[in-house]
Amino acid sequence: MKKEDIISILEGVMDPEIPVLSITDLGILRAVEVSDEETVITLTPTYSGCPAMETIQQDIRTLLTENGIDRVKINQVLSPAWTSDWMSVSGKEKLEAYGIAAPSFSGGCGLLETGSDGPDHCPNCHSGNTELISRFGSTACKALYRCRGCHEPFDYFKCH
Ligand SMILES: [Zn+2]
Repeated sequence: MKKEDIISILEGVMDPEIPVLSITDLGILRAVEVSDEETVITLTPTYSGCPAMETIQQDIRTLLTENGIDRVKINQVLSPAWTSDWMSVSGKEKLEAYGIAAPSFSGGCGLLETGSDGPDHCPNCHSGNTELISRFGSTACKALYRCRGCHEPFDYFKCH
């Protein structure tokens, strides 16, 4: 099977924490190498020790086995560290549609005037007037914000 075919299979592997995002949307799939011997998949977790990685690796193996590929090696590469810039634009759009504010669309970590990382706008009403409630949301990857426009709380996928 060709590398492109394997990548399109892997587009079906979702992040267990954000089930609308695939590992290709997130940009954590770094490389696929195909040889006669085996298929080598290289992943970079969104942060070191991310608990979702184990599930993701199992899902990759299961999906590839179902497609007749059983000699699979999965490498984890921590350097260079994952950055939210690796997230695809369509991934950021899916994230917002899911109700989670995405890291800066313009690329680069969206630094607010205060010098801290924060969402461009509320995913519900797109108001730019938001406030931080907690630096840690439902998972360590996210922070909890509230919109001053529609008063809804929302998760923000933190910039790395
Ligand atoms: Zn809002």
